[in-house]
Amino acid sequence: MSKNLIYGPVPSRRLGFSLGVDLVPYKICSYDCIYCQLGPTPATTMARKPYIASEVILAHLDARLKEGVRPDFITLAGSGEPTLNSEIEAIIRGIKTLTEIPVAVLTNGSLLTDEKVRRDISGADVVLPSLDACDAEVFLKINRPHRDISFETMAEGLVAFRQAYAGKIWLEIFLAAGVNAEEAMIRKFKVWTDRIHPDKIHLNTAVRPTAESYVYSVPEEKLLMFCKTLGENAEIIAPFKKHSKNNGSTDIRAKILDLLDRRPCTLPDIASGLGSHQNEILKYIEPMISDQEIEARRIDEKIFYRRKRTE
Ligand code: SF4
Repeated sequence: MSKNLIYGPVPSRRLGFSLGVDLVPYKICSYDCIYCQLGPTPATTMARKPYIASEVILAHLDARLKEGVRPDFITLAGSGEPTLNSEIEAIIRGIKTLTEIPVAVLTNGSLLTDEKVRRDISGADVVLPSLDACDAEVFLKINRPHRDISFETMAEGLVAFRQAYAGKIWLEIFLAAGVNAEEAMIRKFKVWTDRIHPDKIHLNTAVRPTAESYVYSVPEEKLLMFCKTLGENAEIIAPFKKHSKNNGSTDIRAKILDLLDRRPCTLPDIASGLGSHQNEILKYIEPMISDQEIEARRIDEKIFYRRKRTE
């Protein structure tokens, strides 16, 4: 378990070079998002536990930092929802004693209904929560949350967090064609974003295979229109532009290509083949698909990647 608790630094569109810290085991999550790149959540949970103890995480991070790695951010995220780790406050506090590198928390935001969780992550420099729904119906469709989470309380949790938190909030909205990407819905989103008042709004859409095959990308022109509706702090983070060749380690890209040259592989296959974290590999997969080096195929509910042939 502990081998890949720390992954990267990986190139991130939102955070520059980001050193990832995995706070929960695979798919321990309060949501089962239709767009999740890690696949379906076997059973959603709201149970906060020390899934991975703070001392273990801090010891691994300390060792990695001692190797001289200097990322732009240390990002608490991983294979599920990081605020479900009940030791997240101690982890953030511990990181602050190890380094001055800023700490980011990537969260689905669902636990911010709880004042204790809001306090627990208040030591982070940047929090990147999600808001993918503009109402209760869309919430059930896109995030498929644990039964104890309602849309109104979740969104009010984000508003309450903004009021109490002094750091930066970069809100992500994942848009899927036919699900939550109509102008009328974006106007409903705006009612909430005006109340949450994030420092930035990041619009994302499907660029690589997701948990459900019916999740379709929203065209760039439409996202640009939505940015106008949402206001000047809104921007697109989906990688439409093809200038990613230099994005990340060419060495890892070469190793992935080499592996896929031999046989098509799933994400877990590539991660275990290269001894890397799945999230780290995902950061490379995305630009490689944009650059037409590889392609993805869904076979029997599994997503296989293979090298793209030009002939
Ligand atoms: S919140 Fe994140 S990890 Fe959980 S299901 Fe959604 S995308 Fe996947």
